[in-house]
Amino acid sequence: MLTEALADTSERQALRDAVRAICDRFDDRYWREKDETPAFPFEFAAAIAEGGWLGIAMPEAYGGAGLGITEAAIMMQTVGSSAGTFAACSTLHINIFGPHAIVVHGTEDQKQRMLPPLIAGTERACFGVTEPDAGLDTTKIKTRAVRDGSHYVVNGRKIWTSTAQQADKILLLARTTPVEDCARPTDGLSLFYTNLDRQFVDVHEIHKMGRAAVDSNSLFIDGLRVPVEDRIGEEGKGFRYILDSLNPERILNAAEAVGIGRRALSKATAYAQERVVFGRPIGKNQSIQHPLAENWAELYAAELMVLRAATLYDAGEPCGAEANAAKYLAADAAFRAADQAVRTHGGMGYAREYDVERYFREAVVTRLAPVSRELILCYLAERVLGLPKSY
Ligand SMILES: Cc1cc2nc3c(=O)[nH]c(=O)nc-3n(C[C@H](O)[C@H](O)[C@H](O)COP(=O)(O)OP(=O)(O)OC[C@H]3O[C@@H](n4cnc5c(N)ncnc54)[C@H](O)[C@@H]3O)c2cc1C
Repeated sequence: MLTEALADTSERQALRDAVRAICDRFDDRYWREKDETPAFPFEFAAAIAEGGWLGIAMPEAYGGAGLGITEAAIMMQTVGSSAGTFAACSTLHINIFGPHAIVVHGTEDQKQRMLPPLIAGTERACFGVTEPDAGLDTTKIKTRAVRDGSHYVVNGRKIWTSTAQQADKILLLARTTPVEDCARPTDGLSLFYTNLDRQFVDVHEIHKMGRAAVDSNSLFIDGLRVPVEDRIGEEGKGFRYILDSLNPERILNAAEAVGIGRRALSKATAYAQERVVFGRPIGKNQSIQHPLAENWAELYAAELMVLRAATLYDAGEPCGAEANAAKYLAADAAFRAADQAVRTHGGMGYAREYDVERYFREAVVTRLAPVSRELILCYLAERVLGLPKSY
């Protein structure tokens, strides 16, 4: 019923089915409980790691499967369409896309040291970029890393750092040269992958609307000593390294959002078939049918854009416009499908036991993070349409 574009070969369908078989072991009851407690889904994370899925797009030399971003997107779309929706995706997301900068810019020693534990799931990492006073304007971050012999000493604040309650490691962006001494604001930022040493980093959980099973946090970093060998690539080029990994991250986010939307749509469709009011199934009313049909069309279109972006990326072609468009379309389609699923359920859409309210709360964040829909539109207006830069 829910046509899928990404799994377009028998190998890719087998990949999807294998991931789905693991996800199906964790049903709505499991995720509802994780959401309500809230509690990190360790059992789910372990099951995915045991299946060897965390290294899907990582080089085989370090224990990965060496597949492309298209296959990773199939995996994450499948996870998104499971009962865990976005929480399930966020449990894994950093392990799948986070090491990209290490793969591309790390030394051989760093790859040997850092990648295998991430791929095996024995180490968990978090991603510390966003700061309270910088927002989407990443070059304005204030966290400083000051060289002190064989170490850097880091001081500053991060916000929204997801999974920091569990993480052993942090992929951290910090300023190593004051912005006033740089030719461009994008210079002078450096990237580190290092121990999240709680003696020097206070981690405070943020209470949030949805995705409660996966924590997001404020970090207060006070005198964290980072060995020079934990710096990824050259000093001062961290912003460029982060930019490199934006397209694959957008593609994965978009695939996840399509999955979430599909989950909501399938619940809504089932309810529309079985719920009888005025002597007939509510799904017989066009005001119920049409929005669901629209959701189907929007999700399918978004998935095709994901496929297009992923295919370009895997072929080594530029894909910024497509990756951003996929993220924009998929997040909006997911949000509308989740909203419609709540409304299709009427009052029961508001009840926790029907789960669609949880899907809705999780779908909201796909439009906000890691990049907002507004900033995507700014990017497309400037880079595709040639309009003046507005940010
Ligand atoms: C659940 C969750 C998990 C997250 N996990 C992580 C994580 O693990 N690591 C991490 O580093 N970050 C994480 N983030 C942070 C996330 O990436 C940011 O919230 C996001 O980038 C938006 O930044 P901001 O919240 O500071 O919004 P702001 O920059 O304050 O923007 C606020 C609003 O203004 C709009 N806006 C701003 N400037 C412009 C402009 N020039 N033109 C048009 N509109 C504009 C934005 O689109 C947005 O709607 C997470 C966020 C959430 C909600």
